[in-house]
Amino acid sequence: MAQMYFYYSAMNAGKSTTLLQSSFNYRERGMTPIIFTAAIDDRFGKGKVSSRIGLQEDAELFNSKDDLYQILINFSNAGKIDCVLIDECQFLTKEQVYQLTEVVDKLDIPVLCYGLRTDFLGELFEGSRYLLSWADKLVELKTICHCGRKANMVIRQDEAGNAIADGNQVEIGGNDLYLSVCRAHYKEALGR
Ligand SMILES: [Zn+2]
Repeated sequence: MAQMYFYYSAMNAGKSTTLLQSSFNYRERGMTPIIFTAAIDDRFGKGKVSSRIGLQEDAELFNSKDDLYQILINFSNAGKIDCVLIDECQFLTKEQVYQLTEVVDKLDIPVLCYGLRTDFLGELFEGSRYLLSWADKLVELKTICHCGRKANMVIRQDEAGNAIADGNQVEIGGNDLYLSVCRAHYKEALGR
């Protein structure tokens, strides 16, 4: 039976690199993966997953209105799909995580999701909440704080380098910088 995987981390832990490596591994074995990424993230141009070490692949875009189960039925009717890879999966809705469980359970296609666990306020993203609840396998991708401890929190900084303690979960087109830190340095940055 296929399974659903949630690869989660803070920022800059190499999620996209890991996704692209998985895609490569499938292709190398003559199999066909399909990659999706959130339409909200167009840092690297539309319809691409890019890693910081220079790898890049084309991707289908999803937005919160898409029925991913129906879309994947259509794709698999057009040609065999061996694996579904989702980048920026924190932006999935509850319904879409459910739709992806249907891809696993009814179409028997593995779904590998890559994304952030929490936002800069330390709150779960909607997609991450339901992936943590429903995925078969949870895999943490680790990155480290400047102090050397595991970084499991994300700080949003303004242009002056000050940590921002409120605002929208998703800031589109802003110049804010995100930084991964350990929990202790997260509290310190926010003066808590
Ligand atoms: Zn630290």
